[in-house]
Amino acid sequence: MNPRPYAIDTLISAKAIAARVESLAREISEFYQGTEKLVVVGLLRGSFIFIADLVREIDLPIEVDFLEASSYGNAMESSREVRILKDLRGEIEGRDVLVVEDIIDTGFTLSHVLAILRTRRPRRLEVCALLDKPSRREVAVDARWIGFEIPDRFVVGYGIDYGQRNRNLPFIGAVRFAEHS
Ligand code: 5GP
Repeated sequence: MNPRPYAIDTLISAKAIAARVESLAREISEFYQGTEKLVVVGLLRGSFIFIADLVREIDLPIEVDFLEASSYGNAMESSREVRILKDLRGEIEGRDVLVVEDIIDTGFTLSHVLAILRTRRPRRLEVCALLDKPSRREVAVDARWIGFEIPDRFVVGYGIDYGQRNRNLPFIGAVRFAEHS
């Protein structure tokens, strides 16, 4: 896909992200104190930078696993039909599982992924999402930790793409198309 020309407005600076990641990790470390081995599950691909930063601040024994579910593809609308493209490598039965997501938008992706994971009977299943767009929610999702609530803007950066671009931006930016400027 060749995206239409667009500009990117900074929404959340790299410095603000780093500070929030540190406080989230502190809360998570306290919450899971005494847990034998937490399984931190990153939802690919958008959460790869967030999970990398987050786990380095978590002061607990952890395992890291990844799961890829289809959602936006290259478009800007959620497909509502969520499929598992890449499953976990490890078993989660009886384990404490923390799902790390980039953005909760309509809630379809996460609620579907959580329903699948629940059938595997983890001991406890929690969610940490970097970004939340509450105004867009269509399906309720219970996320214990949210990094930032954001308005209904299409965002990129810090792992999040637009047509596979911009994942490497160190900040979160909102896309503004040329014809709207
Ligand atoms: P939901 O199923 O909650 O509507 O969609 C969640 C997924 O849609 C996120 O994990 C993310 O991949 C994608 N998504 C939602 N909002 C945005 C956005 O503003 N920018 C980008 N690039 N992806 C988004």
